Amino acid sequence: MNEQPPPAWADKMAPESLRLLQTFVNTHQYTTYPDHLATITTAKQWLREQGFPAPRLDLAQLKRVTVLRETLREVLLAHAGHNTNPPLAQLHTQLKDATVQLTIDQDDTTKATARGKGVDHFINTLAAELLTASLNNTWTRLKACGNHECNVAFYDHSRNATTRYCTTSICANRVRQRTFRERLSGSTE
Ligand SMILES: [Zn+2]
Repeated sequence: MNEQPPPAWADKMAPESLRLLQTFVNTHQYTTYPDHLATITTAKQWLREQGFPAPRLDLAQLKRVTVLRETLREVLLAHAGHNTNPPLAQLHTQLKDATVQLTIDQDDTTKATARGKGVDHFINTLAAELLTASLNNTWTRLKACGNHECNVAFYDHSRNATTRYCTTSICANRVRQRTFRERLSGSTE
């Protein structure tokens, strides 16, 4: 539960209202961390740790959850300018049955709260976070790193919201070097 996030996003944590979505996408990072949703057992454990016990999680539900995770990752890559064709239609389909309740506070902030049980409650909570964030204009600040060996979800705290990689020193540099090498090998053909 209190496992520290890897350094790549430890300083780019989303606000509490988007934290579950960020943590969910980062259950699989393409570098050194194991996929927390690789099996039903590990997925159940991860869900329980996030406060969503799903004792009857089956393979079909696990597939639904991991497919949603990768759709979200593609959308977050688009937020960072790495994907010009995000799978929004798929995201709409995957969240079309989500039920959330809207509340408006006295200070006019709008908040969505999830309904349902088990895996549905989990997915509804993600939908509620997405909706709340888009109402509060924070959704597009949640991004995915453009280094395909990393792809972590990070929150862009920069003033202009123009950050494209989780780290400049590691991921942005790595992509720059890779592009440079590809250009060199291309020029010798
Ligand atoms: Zn990265």
